[in-house]
Amino acid sequence: MDTLDTGIRLKAFQFLEQQCKLHGDVLPRKVLADGFEAGGHQIHLIGPEGIFKPAILREIPISITTVPIVEGRPRPYEDELSDEGVIRYRYRGTNPNHPDNVGLRLAMERRIPLIYFFGIRPSRYMPVWPVYIVGDDPRSLTFTVQVGDKRNILASVTGREREEPIAARAYRTITVQHRLHQQSFRDRVIEAYRQRCAVCRLHHTELLEAAHILPDGHPKGEPWVSNGLSLCKLHHGAFDSYILGVRPDLVIEIRADVLDESDGPMLMHGLQECHNARLAVVPIANRLKPNKEFLEERSQLFRTVE
Ligand SMILES: [Zn+2]
Repeated sequence: MDTLDTGIRLKAFQFLEQQCKLHGDVLPRKVLADGFEAGGHQIHLIGPEGIFKPAILREIPISITTVPIVEGRPRPYEDELSDEGVIRYRYRGTNPNHPDNVGLRLAMERRIPLIYFFGIRPSRYMPVWPVYIVGDDPRSLTFTVQVGDKRNILASVTGREREEPIAARAYRTITVQHRLHQQSFRDRVIEAYRQRCAVCRLHHTELLEAAHILPDGHPKGEPWVSNGLSLCKLHHGAFDSYILGVRPDLVIEIRADVLDESDGPMLMHGLQECHNARLAVVPIANRLKPNKEFLEERSQLFRTVE
C-alpha cells in the first residue's frame, strides 16, 4: 500500500468536506486550483487537463473534471444523463497509453477512489467523491465511472472495502447525476436573471429557484436557460400549479378564480397585483430569454386549467 498516496487522498476528501461547508455544494475553481498544504507541499486538486495528478503522487490521478456545458449546444456524449448508472468519461486524447489514461486504468484495477469535478459554469465546480473507475472501453475511448459510498472512504482508500452491490452504486450514481444537472440548470438560470425573481425582482438567492417552462421530461424540455425562469419560491409554486402564467409576450396572468378571491396582503401584493404586468426581469442576451414557442405551449396548458 502506498501510504503517501493514501494520506493525500484522505486529506483531499477532508479538504472538500470543509470547503463545501464554507461555500455550499458548488466550489470556485480557485479553491480547487489552490488546494491545500501537506508536508510542505501545495496539493492542487484541478489542472488545465480533465485528468489531474498532483506532482507528489506517483502514478494515479486524484481528479477527473467535466467542463461546463455550453448554453444551446448539444451536450457532449460523456455528459448525457443515462439510466445505466454510470458516468462516461472520455480518455485524454486518442492514445490509450497516454500516462493519464494509464493512471485511470490503474485506479480501476486497484479500486482507488478519485474526485469528480462537474463544471457548472466556467469558474464553478461541484465536487463528487469518492468515485471509482469501473470500466474501460478502448473502442469508444471512454472510461465508466460510478459514485461510491462516503461512509466507506477509509476502507476504500486502504483497499479493504467490501465490494458494494452493483445496484446500490448504480442507483447512487443516477441520483448524483440528476443533482448535478439540476444544480447546473439552477445556477445558469439564476445567474442569467441577475439573482432576481423574474416576477417580483426579489434579490435573495436563498429564496430563488429555477422553474422549467416545459417540464423536465417533456421532449423539448431541454435544460437550457431559455427553457427556464428564475422565480422566488412563491412565484415558482404559483407557476407550477398554474395559478400564475407567463404569455409569449412576457405578460403575467393570474388565474381568474384567484383574481376573484379576497384575502390578506400576500394574495393581493404577491399574486393579484402581478396580473397583466410584464416580467420584471429578463436575461439581457437574446438567446437566454424565455423561448416564445415554449411559453405558447405552456400558456395553452394554463388556459385549460382556467
Ligand atoms: Zn417572486
